Amino acid sequence: MNFRDSNLSAGLLVPLLLLSCAGEAPPAERRPDVLFLTVDTLRADHLGFHGYPGPTSPQLDKFARESVVFENAIAQSSWTLASLASLMTSHWVGELGIRDFRSHLPTSATTLAEVLSDNGYETGAVGSHLVFLDKYGLRQGIADFDDELVLRDFGRSHRAISSKQISDKGLAWMAERRDSAKPWFLWLHYFDPHVPYQEHPSVGDKFGTSPIGRYDGEIAFTDAQMGRVLRRAKASERPLVVVFTADHGEEFNDHGKNSHGHTLYQELIHVPLFIRGPGLAPASIPDLVRLVDVMPTLFELLRIPLDQRPTELVGQSLLPLTRGDTLEPQPSLSELRFHADTHVDALIRGRWKLIVPRTEAPVELYDLEDNRKESKNLAERRPKLVESLREQMDLMTSEAWTRGESSATELELDPDEIDALQGLGYMGDDEDAADDERP
Ligand SMILES: [Zn+2]
Repeated sequence: MNFRDSNLSAGLLVPLLLLSCAGEAPPAERRPDVLFLTVDTLRADHLGFHGYPGPTSPQLDKFARESVVFENAIAQSSWTLASLASLMTSHWVGELGIRDFRSHLPTSATTLAEVLSDNGYETGAVGSHLVFLDKYGLRQGIADFDDELVLRDFGRSHRAISSKQISDKGLAWMAERRDSAKPWFLWLHYFDPHVPYQEHPSVGDKFGTSPIGRYDGEIAFTDAQMGRVLRRAKASERPLVVVFTADHGEEFNDHGKNSHGHTLYQELIHVPLFIRGPGLAPASIPDLVRLVDVMPTLFELLRIPLDQRPTELVGQSLLPLTRGDTLEPQPSLSELRFHADTHVDALIRGRWKLIVPRTEAPVELYDLEDNRKESKNLAERRPKLVESLREQMDLMTSEAWTRGESSATELELDPDEIDALQGLGYMGDDEDAADDERP
């Protein structure tokens, strides 16, 4: 029982407290609610708390100051379904067998929401992207999935502006559960920073009209809408954990192209990540961490019993880092099989990043400490290091894809879906369609 949540008068509180002092066992501690916030296509270095000079994220910045911020968090792919599936299961993309929009998260996978649901959580989500169609499997474990925005704007969802509705729906869902005896898990996925970049009257032209300016405007709009939810979270009288991250970033000609899902350079896989919750002192953590670490971290934070957690997760709990302890550094793997010509894997170990195109293109090696922009390929100068990283990567990826391929079955796509996906810049020769959207 939480006294602040109950409507007990002060007169009743006194005898209850006395009873408790007299040796009665204290009531079981309530598990915290979990607000799980993801933003599509949000590169870390365009946020204020990651050092971006423009005012894209005042609300998130404010919240980040009260949170544990992971400065160096890496997504396991550079497109939505692959990255979210990995985040929600703590498995590599290859293990899940997710290649493209004909793939889906297998029902045999155990999701974060499934585990929380089995442990007494009420689960809900609001989606705004085609990957939240039931067939893609991300809804496993979500008892109350609000897909109105996915279905209503089906076929043109890439043009819809949805952050306000996502926040409206999220706020209503939380308000309905203000006095719920059960803890809840709510996942809100925001989508506006994805191409095509829309203009927002409330943001105006403060970021200019270039593609980057419009993208920043989309972030600012999303940030303002998320601020409403974050303020509500802050005012919660129930214990609450807030997780904020993104599925992948976005390229603006950093390496010769635009959009995402085509390479694994840092602009596409370095994502924001912060966690705020009871017992977590605000901190900024420079260590390399992976999105696959989020699920084990939450299990530890929420005290999910060990025998209730799925085994063989590839991530590890990051809680030791939040307490100032050290953690055995782990390599980060990111994988991409989207188009036949963009099969590529990336392994980051410490300061070094190896990129191996599974095509004829040469292998790349970068020193992320000295060359974060990944412009100086050191592969020819450091062959032994390349060999060592490659060995580790091959071990991780070949195992992963072998297991994944055996469980994957292909989905059928109908013409409406293909139209929608082309509008989002996916699906083979749709690159031109996406480019048309950009001034
Ligand atoms: Zn995405």
